[in-house]
Amino acid sequence: ESFADMCLHSSIMKDIAFHEYTRPTSIQAQAMPVALSGKDLLGCAETGSGKTAAFTIPMIQHCLAQPPIRRGDGPLALVLAPTRELAQQIEKEVKAFSRSLESFRTSIVVGGTNMAEQRSELKAGVNIVVATPGRFIDHLQQGNTSLSRISFVVLDEADRMLDMGFEPQIREVMRNLPKKHQTLLFSATMPVEIEALAQEYLTSPVQVKV
Ligand code: AMP
Repeated sequence: ESFADMCLHSSIMKDIAFHEYTRPTSIQAQAMPVALSGKDLLGCAETGSGKTAAFTIPMIQHCLAQPPIRRGDGPLALVLAPTRELAQQIEKEVKAFSRSLESFRTSIVVGGTNMAEQRSELKAGVNIVVATPGRFIDHLQQGNTSLSRISFVVLDEADRMLDMGFEPQIREVMRNLPKKHQTLLFSATMPVEIEALAQEYLTSPVQVKV
């Protein structure tokens, strides 16, 4: 399968060409059609496989199908990642594939950075939030953002998030999401804890593996 077969927004196609992604990697060829169809996905893939674009591109496409964001609105999509560095890489990829879209906003919410700045960005209204779990919960608890409009969630490197003790924060987010949402879970390994999480929060997920 090629990117051209995926019925992507022309602006995303332009950015894919700009970044010289000529053909999908294996995880992209497997995961993108599933994610674009609206199904939940359980992906076993490591960094280097191209998994970031595999969820980023469908996430942007999903946001484009929603009503526009206004000031004070909560985000449409959320990515949770274990570390600040990974969150930064994901944000970079989101920006890479939304650069031609006017007024498409993405916010990064990680520890060790200014809460007030993040707060005003979140309050202004963003399409996508890329966050580490602890800092995201801090903003939720302070009323700086909300889960009320989120319809697309990605748990990236879920095994590492559990290793780092983020299970309570992940569960807090997952159980308070609106009923109708799509979830993609990526993990390099599939221990029983990840299987349990997937069992609990994913609906008939399609499994892909590279
Ligand atoms: P990731 O596994 O998401 O961290 O991606 C690994 C690297 O592969 C990143 O530098 C991406 O920019 C690059 N990459 C991802 N998908 C493609 C593609 N289809 N063609 C060329 N490079 C890609």
